[in-house]
Amino acid sequence: MSDKEMSVKSEKLTAVKGMNDLLPPDSATVEWLEAKVRDLMARYAYRNIRTPIVERTPLFIRGLGEVTDIVEKEMYSFEDRLNGDPLTLRPEATAGVVRAVVEHSMLYEGGKRLYYMGPMFRHERPQRGRYRQFDQIGAEALGFSGAEIDAELILLAVALWKELGLNDVCLELNSLGQPAERLNHRKALISHFELHAEHLDEEAKRRLYSNPLRILDTKNPSMQSVVTSAPKLLDFLGEASLLHFNTLKSILEINGVEFVVNPRLVRGMDYYNLTVFEFTTNRLGSQGTVCAGGRYDYLVEQLGGKPAPAVGWALGVDRILELLKEQGFPMVELELDAYAIISDVSALPVVLKTIEALRSAGISVQMHPSNGDVMGSMKTQFKKADGSKARYALIFGTDEITQNQVTVKALRDGTGSQVSQSLLTVLEWASTLQSTK
Ligand code: ATP
Ligand code: MG
Repeated sequence: MSDKEMSVKSEKLTAVKGMNDLLPPDSATVEWLEAKVRDLMARYAYRNIRTPIVERTPLFIRGLGEVTDIVEKEMYSFEDRLNGDPLTLRPEATAGVVRAVVEHSMLYEGGKRLYYMGPMFRHERPQRGRYRQFDQIGAEALGFSGAEIDAELILLAVALWKELGLNDVCLELNSLGQPAERLNHRKALISHFELHAEHLDEEAKRRLYSNPLRILDTKNPSMQSVVTSAPKLLDFLGEASLLHFNTLKSILEINGVEFVVNPRLVRGMDYYNLTVFEFTTNRLGSQGTVCAGGRYDYLVEQLGGKPAPAVGWALGVDRILELLKEQGFPMVELELDAYAIISDVSALPVVLKTIEALRSAGISVQMHPSNGDVMGSMKTQFKKADGSKARYALIFGTDEITQNQVTVKALRDGTGSQVSQSLLTVLEWASTLQSTK
């Protein structure tokens, strides 16, 4: 055996750092959350889109911008083994959605409202709320330019917080204006930072002329004062941009959505213009942004499509899950109708036939497993039935089997009532049980 083969055999197999397993019961909570999202998206007329997890690397370089955290240092990129194509595990989904929309001429007949759910990959320093594989849910509205669509997306997110019972989520809003307006702001910004160059960290110095706006997004606490005193983009907006921003704000106000305008809010990707927003909470420590988005009217054209406006957001599922836990949300438990207790392995064929019929009638049944040759003692099986939190035990004892019966014992209503049913009529019991659910 070669050294390499030896080390493959002896290496301890664990998950990759920053990539977590989602286990029960947390996985049930995420399924619950996803079901709420699907339901809500349907009510807002957003339809599901699923794009590949791997895309060609230039998509992200062109889409997100070269001087961004993601493209500079967070992408999992590799070459295709056979033809050397540069490929990347998607760090976010908007670029892929836009690629798909362009590739399939989806805007041919007008705008599209889409949503997605799935894993994203970024090579970041793992910490609470920041992982290398994490799940996002996102909504994108493409082909619409009106501020009412920005509002619709924000209202959709607010409705989701309500459905999930999330409190303490605040909305921050800003407008990045249009490229020409940003150019004037950029000049003022560079002068400001040049004047206070001694307060800039290495990264900011490097970005001073390539992407000064991004400096406003710094997470370095010692740069806060130089960032706070920087010229504000809002002061550079023209009439049309201000109108868009004011329309959005008045729709939100009339709908009772509270927000604060944060003039220093910029986003991590280059593609945004006009509206940008973040939903934040102070209950998750420093990783407090749970959802973020904005308008990206130039991305479709930048990725080769006919010019079309667009707006969207993405939320971090892991952070929402943390927030639900933080609020003491009761974890979603598997709701089990029945636990099958079986006295002898010889009864298994009949037992399986019966519980299969119950399952197709909509009843959930967990079967006690044998150890291959024998079932456990009845005492052990009853203990397991109790522990499973099932509402009923289905007892397939020796007597029952010889009489073609099953005993149904209530486990959770305090009565402990026990009724014997014929295997032929147990489906009737199932339908009464169904009607009480
Ligand atoms: P941050 O400023 O926290 O790095 P971001 O601007 O990079 O966030 P987006 O790319 O806008 O975030 O992603 C939208 C949301 O996805 C974030 O608000 C957050 O909830 C979640 N998210 C982003 N990166 C991670 C990560 N590494 N781990 C877990 N969730 C993440
Ligand atoms: Mg980031």
